[in-house]
Amino acid sequence: MTIKDFAYDHPDRDVAAFKRAVANKLIYAVGKDPVAASQDDWLHATALAVRDQLVERWMATTRANYAQDLKRVYYLSMEFLIGRTFTNALLAVDLHDTVREALADFGVDMAALSEREPDAALGNGGLGRLAACFLDSMATLGVPGMGYGIRYEYGMFRQRIVDGQQVETPDYWLTRGNPWEFQRPEVNYRVRFGGHVQRREGKNAPYGAADWVDTHDVLAVAYDTIIPGYGTQATNTLRLWSARATEEIDLSAFNRGNYMAAVESKNHSENVSRVLYPDDSTPSGRELRLHQEYFFCSASVQDLLRRYLRNHKSFDHLADKVSIHLNDTHPVLAVPELMRLLLDEHGLAWDVAWAHTQKVFSYTNHTLMHEALETWPVEMLGRILPRHLQIIYDMNAKFLAAVTQKAGNDVELLRRLSLVDEAGERRVRMAYVAVLASHSINGVSGLHSELMKQSIFADFAKIFPERFNNKTNGVTPRRWLAQANPPLASLLDQRLGKGWRRDLSQLEALRPMAAQPAFARAFRHAKRENKLRLANWVEQHMGLVLDTDAMFDVQVKRIHEYKRQLLNVLHVITRYHRILDAQAAGGPIDIVPRVVVFAGKAASAYQMAKLVIRLINDVANTINNDSRAGKLLKVVFLPNYSVSLAEVIMPAADLSEQISTAGTEASGTGNMKFALNGALTIGTLDGANVEMRDNVGAENIFIFGNTTPEVADIRAHGYQPRDIYEENAELKRVLDAIRDGAFSAGEPSRYQGIYDALVNWGDHYLLLADYASYVEKQAEVDALYRDPDAWTHMAILNVAGMGAFSSDRTIAQYAHEIWHTRPVVLG
Ligand SMILES: *Cc1c(COP(=O)(O)O)cnc(C)c1O
Repeated sequence: MTIKDFAYDHPDRDVAAFKRAVANKLIYAVGKDPVAASQDDWLHATALAVRDQLVERWMATTRANYAQDLKRVYYLSMEFLIGRTFTNALLAVDLHDTVREALADFGVDMAALSEREPDAALGNGGLGRLAACFLDSMATLGVPGMGYGIRYEYGMFRQRIVDGQQVETPDYWLTRGNPWEFQRPEVNYRVRFGGHVQRREGKNAPYGAADWVDTHDVLAVAYDTIIPGYGTQATNTLRLWSARATEEIDLSAFNRGNYMAAVESKNHSENVSRVLYPDDSTPSGRELRLHQEYFFCSASVQDLLRRYLRNHKSFDHLADKVSIHLNDTHPVLAVPELMRLLLDEHGLAWDVAWAHTQKVFSYTNHTLMHEALETWPVEMLGRILPRHLQIIYDMNAKFLAAVTQKAGNDVELLRRLSLVDEAGERRVRMAYVAVLASHSINGVSGLHSELMKQSIFADFAKIFPERFNNKTNGVTPRRWLAQANPPLASLLDQRLGKGWRRDLSQLEALRPMAAQPAFARAFRHAKRENKLRLANWVEQHMGLVLDTDAMFDVQVKRIHEYKRQLLNVLHVITRYHRILDAQAAGGPIDIVPRVVVFAGKAASAYQMAKLVIRLINDVANTINNDSRAGKLLKVVFLPNYSVSLAEVIMPAADLSEQISTAGTEASGTGNMKFALNGALTIGTLDGANVEMRDNVGAENIFIFGNTTPEVADIRAHGYQPRDIYEENAELKRVLDAIRDGAFSAGEPSRYQGIYDALVNWGDHYLLLADYASYVEKQAEVDALYRDPDAWTHMAILNVAGMGAFSSDRTIAQYAHEIWHTRPVVLG
């Protein structure tokens, strides 16, 4: 450093120093007199003081990354479902008790303060949460990397339940500012849309460079958040892009006195980063989504090339220094964008640019479901990104020519492999672009990675077998155990030491303890505390009193037909009928009391999912108000499922419902969080449930239902759900009750559509085919719950078997087998 006399106050870590730091932030950064400061002012001041503790290590890591010229991983994701940052940051800097004491001296309650922090809900479900767990693990393992995404002003909508129905309201999470981010106005890139392309003449034609002109431009401005590693000085950065108009206002309109028109185009440009998941049920919603995808891909690729070129004069070493990972197909436009920049801006020949591109990219597939596989109409792509469409056409032409040379002119094969779907309206298949451009394509569980090769990518897997691999998902034990479950975490600390936070395989050492009565008692005690915490939440927010001796039977996740919340409802109603029958017979009632907990959001245009939410609430209303059910059965739908709510729910669960139709859930990560927190799983052989069974032992998990090949078989032989309905009297009674308005007295036909979907319209997700097996398995669950020692023993063995499901293990595999990165070394 050559700057003279540069000095700053290194932040100290004791209580007195921290009090001073918070006081200084409150006065000088927040600008508030302590006598007038609100809880939110204190939170802001404290967050800034905690953030200071991260800054030095952040700078040291960045400096080391440059000095060691390490290969960096750029993780591109449309979603990062971060949740809250405050407690996570405290855990990383290990200042929890210090900060609590410091605040207590000011009369401020830290726990209440942290509850006020809004979730950063920049994602929608498992895919976004996976990206957040991965950032945590990359930092913890010292993998030099950076997350790139969009700084949505409105995150995932807030869900309210009004008269049993989902109502969406905007989530303006930035109202009170975001103390964790650093705005970087000087880090900005021009992102272009529209216009047209002029091919340059030259010997490289038709695969050479071109000029893209007459575009409409938007600026992408960087906002950086520090991602601290746990138990290390290493940190990473999450860089989120926000849209700014290239010109503040339209000067000519302004000069004409038309002030509204002058700001209109500014607003229009800045809409690009306004909201997560614009409603894609409308054409304009889909166009906005395409704009968003390209917006963040272009800014990210420009940014990483600039960083690379700071240390390198040519592109010869690009693939040694840069890995770009595509979290699903949403960032696939980064592929033609990198090609465009290399061809048009840097003058590389096509083959050279393409060789670099293929070595740089890797891709994770997250779904096999047809409707979730992205395609874009050629017409729309050509209008919004004409140069990228050309590049995709050129990629396709070269690829299909190479295939023809090898396999002959097999028209059917070429039609299947083409990046452009020619049937009907012509559309670009984004997943195929990802597969063609990537050296590694992975699924997210063993089962899903196999199915991926057999189904959607079968032809590609024959041509490029070496590219396909599996990386089973994981979850970060910092947030999902240390932070979410203090009672169990402290028990583990006593018995195992604190090392499990960085090495989750240490949970294996719990196995012998499962048979120790003292340990089992302590384990059960921790579960009880967590159940009380959830019961308090429910009482405070919903006015419903729960019995914590009852089994907490929990299904929380996005509401979707394939996840089969409805199958769970069928079981709930079956239990209800059994209770009523036993009451009517006057005999002793021998039924295990349960509290059945649901939570989850339905996509705003997904009518069937919304109807399921309404049914759950109607069923809850009926049962909870029926004195005959009393304490034996309660049903609750917790509104506004989110990361911070999941942190309260999951540790409190006795039973985890993972009941998707086999072959539909790519991995699941909720399943892992539950088992890690001592719940037993009832589930199908789907996604990562298969590997969970292998790790905890088949005797310690409740598996039911048709397997993936059996599902295929049933469908192939003409599935007849009505036959099952006619033959199973108990099931028929449940479905008839739904159809006849037993839960919707004011509108008896409200659920006719649900009945029809199952009985008359083919029951696409095979609920009726799995019903009997599910209800039988639930009886086994009841039987075990009657024996608390046996139950606890099994729950402990589940925790012991979850070591493999840390996202640290997943990220170590990505780093070694896909990215080929080395960890940063800090002095
Ligand atoms: C883990 C998690 C998910 C994913 O849950 P699945 O059961 O795997 O679908 C979704 N949302 C939130 C808030 C989560 O924490």
